[in-house]
Amino acid sequence: MTTEQRTAGTRRARRGEPRRNPNRVLTLPETLTVKELAQLLDQSDVDVIKQLMRHGIMVSVNQVVDHQVAAVAAAAYGTRTRLAEPAEDTAAITASVGRERDELLRPRPPVVTILGHVDHGKTSLLDYIRNTSVVDKEAGGITQHIGAYQVERDGQPITFLDTPGHAAFTAIRSRGARVTDIAVLVVAADDGIMPQTDEAISHAQAAEVPIVVAINKMDLPGAQPEVVKRQLSERNLLVEDWGGEVIAVPLSAQTGDGVDDLLENLSVLAEIMELKANPDREAAGVIVEATLDRRRGPTATVLVQAGTLHVGDHIVAGAASGRVRAIHDENGAPLDAIRPGSPGVITGLNTTPEAGDILQVMRDDRAARQVANRHGQRAATGNLDTVLTLDSVVKQIDAGDIKELVLVLKADVQGSVEAVVHSLEKLSEGGDVKARVIHAGSGSVSDSDIQLAAASGGIVIAFNVGFEIGAERTAERLGVQVRNYQIIYRLLEDIEQALQGMLEPEFHEVVVGRAEVREIFDGRRGVRIAGCRILDGRIVRQGSVRVMRADQMMTETGIGSLRHFRDEVNQATAGTECGIVLEGFNDYAEGDVIVAYRMERVN
Ligand code: GDP
Repeated sequence: MTTEQRTAGTRRARRGEPRRNPNRVLTLPETLTVKELAQLLDQSDVDVIKQLMRHGIMVSVNQVVDHQVAAVAAAAYGTRTRLAEPAEDTAAITASVGRERDELLRPRPPVVTILGHVDHGKTSLLDYIRNTSVVDKEAGGITQHIGAYQVERDGQPITFLDTPGHAAFTAIRSRGARVTDIAVLVVAADDGIMPQTDEAISHAQAAEVPIVVAINKMDLPGAQPEVVKRQLSERNLLVEDWGGEVIAVPLSAQTGDGVDDLLENLSVLAEIMELKANPDREAAGVIVEATLDRRRGPTATVLVQAGTLHVGDHIVAGAASGRVRAIHDENGAPLDAIRPGSPGVITGLNTTPEAGDILQVMRDDRAARQVANRHGQRAATGNLDTVLTLDSVVKQIDAGDIKELVLVLKADVQGSVEAVVHSLEKLSEGGDVKARVIHAGSGSVSDSDIQLAAASGGIVIAFNVGFEIGAERTAERLGVQVRNYQIIYRLLEDIEQALQGMLEPEFHEVVVGRAEVREIFDGRRGVRIAGCRILDGRIVRQGSVRVMRADQMMTETGIGSLRHFRDEVNQATAGTECGIVLEGFNDYAEGDVIVAYRMERVN
């Protein structure tokens, strides 16, 4: 919007004329803040918020709304809207990845992440798999750690993501990308389930990713696979020979026994999952890792999720943009393209993106730069995580809908963990809003706890524990609330209140004043002014009004201008006269009553 347009809008607003433009079609991105929307509509923030309130949608200035909500506000100003072409907005394209027509879809390799407790053998297992079955092994090539690689079993490729631990796994997810198809949970047979194993299970379950268990270190004399299976069953993970559906493969990452069995199970599971993507479209993917290479500039490992990424493509990834200069595999061998479900290292971006950023092919350089700038600005305002969609609004309004308060709980000892979880369950009984603990454990609040809460839209409860180093900063950065308690009843009291606060807000209307139309004057440019006398209460310039003719409602709108003689005033009180111009309504008749009201929250 040019300054000229904005000034014209302000001038019109000052004159109190209705600011409508029926011929305008506004192009909207998938999501935008209320402030951005107000600017696009050439209206004040407050006014746009008011219009949305009239439709029962409660928003704040910095709230991100989706294009459907934005369209509701635009309609109030008589402005029609259309959604930006997919190429104009990455969010729209990313959303479309899962909505391809069936006949365009081709099978793609599964993407597998290995999770588990420290020292249970994650690295050893990945190394063993890589050394025995890497695709395209370069003789003499130096293998680099690139965060992702592909192996082949019976000609079927499987992609492994080599991210350091489940915090990274969830960090990628919290940025909106669903990357992993299958999680392999490594449990050492001589050690059993440990705290980080529990965390890994929570993270995989929160991401709704199927778990395959690798019972590792079977070569050790102290290996007790049955103990591991029992521990799994206690966590609702029933393995196949216990009558459940969870695949558990005993193996040794040291001797290699059983590893092939694991790969076969992964292949079969992938086949059952019917993982597919359209390779013949512009590529969309996720940044798995990125670094600044002194010689080559920003380099990034990309996992392509749909389409095929080619050398020469214009791309955007988070706030970075550029053109793919070269693609390499983990052995440094050049590739022409990356197909869906496969990784590669790219160069050519202007800055280093972040792990989890979504990569998207753009029409040209300009489009790529524009989108990258917008992402940069959005990230700077920190509004990425609180997207309010029409769906969520409808759910809020739809009374009786069950909602959840998602919690990650950390406590000093296992005994307190269990006590708190139990009490929270009881607290939720019978209520409309439930507390759902997605992960509970003993020990300090870690980075991984924060990431999990961020990705799941939850808060962290710290009961008699502090933070691990760095976790507090992560919480601040991701906007995750961490609440500390020393006494259990305080904790429960707070959660109970939070649950009540989350109950549907109820609004009721309060009439603030009524004015009777006594005379009608013609203003400039066909605007008609209602000369009124305030019958009772007051009429407020910022308020909402409806025009009643006998029992019939003529319109519901806002006030464009409120005058006492020649002066524009903020309010007019009982017994006084005033001139009123309403927004978008000109059709007054003598004797009409203008009723001013406001909505008040009941609970
Ligand atoms: P990570 O922390 O989960 O990545 O675990 P590592 O792969 O680094 O393994 C931790 C230790 O366990 C190392 O000393 C490995 O050599 C050892 N280890 C891993 N897998 C096996 C196994 O199958 N058998 C035996 N005996 N040792 C193993």
